[in-house]
Amino acid sequence: MGTYFYRIESGKIRELRESERQHRNNKIASTLYRKYENAMIVGEKMAGNEFQVSKAKILLVKGDITEQGTDAIVNAANSTLMGGGGVDGAIHRKGGPKILEECKRVRATEWPDGLPTGKAVISSGGNLKARHVIHTVGPVWRGGTCGEPELLAEAYLNSLRLVVSKGLKTIAFPSMSTGAYRYPIEKASRIALTTVKEFLEKEEKLDKVVFVLFTRHDLEIYKKAAKEII
Ligand code: ADP
Repeated sequence: MGTYFYRIESGKIRELRESERQHRNNKIASTLYRKYENAMIVGEKMAGNEFQVSKAKILLVKGDITEQGTDAIVNAANSTLMGGGGVDGAIHRKGGPKILEECKRVRATEWPDGLPTGKAVISSGGNLKARHVIHTVGPVWRGGTCGEPELLAEAYLNSLRLVVSKGLKTIAFPSMSTGAYRYPIEKASRIALTTVKEFLEKEEKLDKVVFVLFTRHDLEIYKKAAKEII
């Protein structure tokens, strides 16, 4: 991937245009150079976190999925859709009771026996910044020979299909299955990134896919995998 340069403009990080990059590189044009020299510092921090696939960007960030302002965020749910720990607990706590009410309706109508592993459903975002939540169930790790890779890919794929079918443009994923479900993150990250990349290559309707990693350690694992895969 190329090197990206950014600068802060009105409190937002903005990528430098080509002409601005040239000013940054041209130390003789000193006023403009000074204006853009800080861009490099921000750029270096960002490098390796952003990847382009066809028309869409894949971003890797360290953070909390419940804080994301994407059109949809993905919940690492369990098949009951009634809430739980980890990402699931955080989304229901911050999103409020509306999300649970909608999940109960899904259970009563579409999936009375629970949402099967790999499938995805949508609810509103309740009090969250994101207007929609995609609830999907990743596989529990049982050593890797019980169809876990295929089921994990299905969970990502069905979430992506669902946001596209609703006309949404941006989506944020947590690292599915790598918490309570104990999927080794080195393996899971490769499946996550490969599935998203292949989807974006075929389907050009999304603008941005964000992976929100909870720890710096998890972020580094995703970055390493992304450099190899994307
Ligand atoms: P699963 O049951 O699919 O393993 P978990 O919610 O237990 O799902 O964990 C999935 C990943 O999400 C883990 O790496 C965990 O550290 C991380 N995680 C937990 N809370 C959050 C959060 N609020 N935002 C983003 N990631 C989170």
